[in-house]
Amino acid sequence: MKTLRPALFLDRDGVINEEVHYLWKPEDCRLVPGIIPLLQTAQALGYVTVVITNQAGIGRGMYSEADFHVLMDHIQAELAPHNVRLDAIYFSPFHPEHGVGEYKIDTDCRKPAPGMILRAAEEHGLDISRSVLVGDRCTDIGAGTAAGIPHLFLFGNTEAAPCEGSYRKIDSLAEVESTLRTLSA
Ligand SMILES: [Mg+2]
Repeated sequence: MKTLRPALFLDRDGVINEEVHYLWKPEDCRLVPGIIPLLQTAQALGYVTVVITNQAGIGRGMYSEADFHVLMDHIQAELAPHNVRLDAIYFSPFHPEHGVGEYKIDTDCRKPAPGMILRAAEEHGLDISRSVLVGDRCTDIGAGTAAGIPHLFLFGNTEAAPCEGSYRKIDSLAEVESTLRTLSA
């Protein structure tokens, strides 16, 4: 039997890149301070790095799936000189009320539902019980909780009020690095 690997699940907007309302243009993309060292540490310790991102801007018709992929390629190109990459990328383009056409559906892949995480675990042989998630919204924490990820971090000040569930609030991504080191020791 193949050994399952631990994953570092990352929300995109507000964790990998600075939160910009419905970001899709590469020129508006700024990496969050600390994300490169976090990815370097995660990669060195054997974590699979997985992006899980709601992209309702696609469903709302604000930008296309192709635009999304162009931006992700741009982010990968920014990371490449630092010898890190995002191993897998999952996105949910749907919205139950504001989606247009085929995008107007309620789906278990839209956070706070855990569909993207569970699919990633299945497709990449991930050990959820040794995995870590970083998000900046309560919907990220909700998805991690529903998936059974034991180590959840709420980064930054995007959320004004506390979220439900058990998580650690952090102001620096370096705190996630410490946890990864401790878990791998
Ligand atoms: Mg976010």
